[in-house]
Amino acid sequence: MKLFIISSVALSTVLVIFTLNQPSFLAEEHSEKHFHELAKYESVMDTIPESFPYEKTEAEWKEILTPSQFRILRKKGTEFPYVNEYFDSKKDGIYVCAGCGQKLYDSNHKYKSGTGWPSFWKPINDSLVVELEDKSLFMTRTEIVCSNCGGHIGHVFDDGPEPTKLRYCMNSAALKLVDRNKLP
Ligand SMILES: [Zn+2]
Repeated sequence: MKLFIISSVALSTVLVIFTLNQPSFLAEEHSEKHFHELAKYESVMDTIPESFPYEKTEAEWKEILTPSQFRILRKKGTEFPYVNEYFDSKKDGIYVCAGCGQKLYDSNHKYKSGTGWPSFWKPINDSLVVELEDKSLFMTRTEIVCSNCGGHIGHVFDDGPEPTKLRYCMNSAALKLVDRNKLP
């Protein structure tokens, strides 16, 4: 009987935890749900191979970027959902690349995706980002990098809202929100 009660309590706890977590599981249909796994595999991912107009050596990048910016922008890292700077931000402004300052996204194109990462349905202009095939983590995804410095910003998925139906799932640490009136 005692064992039965203990088992029931344990089972209920598991069910409660699962239920509480369910919305985020459902929201993260794609690779995001594997974020716990990412750190493990990042070391074997390739560094960015293309050449871009704004280039710096690895040592120079380390000097100007914070450790998390460097890990994401230069090593294709992914930050944790819901605990990053802009996922829930409704502030007006322009999101620029944290590496080189190139304009990337407008807050007017940001929407609540429920994934825990800042999400946009379009970049300011298609030429500001480059799409690369990403075959890491045993799946094929479309990686988004800054067209000026090649910094990894995030991925794009086709489950976004109208009119593009795209979801640019970005890392907050790869972006910097700036006042649109102060940009050239
Ligand atoms: Zn950049």
